[in-house]
Amino acid sequence: MITVENLSKRYGSTTAVHDVSFTVEPGSITGFLGPNGAGKSTTLRMLTGLTPPTSGTATIAGKRYTDLPNPGRVVGVMLDAAAQHPGRTGRETLQLNASLLGVPKSRVEEMLAAVGLTGAAKRRVGQYSLGMRQRLGIAGALLGDPAVLILDEPANGMDPEGIRWMRGLLQDFAARGGTVILSSHLLGEVQATVDRLVVIGGGRIVANGSLEELLAGSGTLVRGLDPSGLHQALTVAGLQPEPLASGSFRVDATAEQVGRAAAAHGQILLELRESDGAGLEELFFQLTTPAAAAA
Ligand code: ADP
Repeated sequence: MITVENLSKRYGSTTAVHDVSFTVEPGSITGFLGPNGAGKSTTLRMLTGLTPPTSGTATIAGKRYTDLPNPGRVVGVMLDAAAQHPGRTGRETLQLNASLLGVPKSRVEEMLAAVGLTGAAKRRVGQYSLGMRQRLGIAGALLGDPAVLILDEPANGMDPEGIRWMRGLLQDFAARGGTVILSSHLLGEVQATVDRLVVIGGGRIVANGSLEELLAGSGTLVRGLDPSGLHQALTVAGLQPEPLASGSFRVDATAEQVGRAAAAHGQILLELRESDGAGLEELFFQLTTPAAAAA
């Protein structure tokens, strides 16, 4: 379980991350989506103890990363696959990690096989393609047999076959109760892999929910303080609220119609958003444009 609460990071006058909160539950794969510069890496770096937050907290299995006694045994991290030492072979890279983690060398061979790099294990990392470095980075993250995986842009540089392979690996990991968060700036790259999405734009969370809920198609998405009261208010107005997993409703009406129906019964709204159902890319674009991010 990953818990991020009111996390913010300022660099001088730049606010890279602003009051970000979300959780990632065991048994699920969460996509952390946003355009370049949205604040994904900064959030993941705060989560993994590499950057101190300006305010807020981030915990993994109930502890801050820096308070975990042997973090690699709890959480596997891949933040920058391109940064691996080019002069070492793939096998040497993992052997070094294995000795730091205190895991047996046999685990290195298992992980090389798991990511399909056994044949390339003797080659220097400098000769690897970016996709191969991503595979090596994922092997490194899995070495300590962690229950949590944090991967920054793991699909970057992978061909469709590599992405399909990674999907299978991560889905198996989650099916065994693992917790996964992976970032991407391309919705299409991860939409078949993830079951939840946290979308960030301009350092702020602009959407958070199940894939089903966020891609519910046309209509208006509404969430209220009192879900049953809101359901009744919408029904009385002749609208047909369709309940979603999170307690929100999807309604085939405009945001104004939904807002008026709620107001007529004194319902307090926490979220009201029209979706035009124009497809995933369009939704992602809308959610991450500066105007949406500032709302
Ligand atoms: P993403 O991973 O979504 O591409 P980042 O988290 O890397 O976004 O960056 C978010 C914002 O914070 C950007 O505007 C970036 O320029 C800024 N930023 C990130 N790291 C630093 C740093 N060390 N110093 C100053 N600004 C930074």
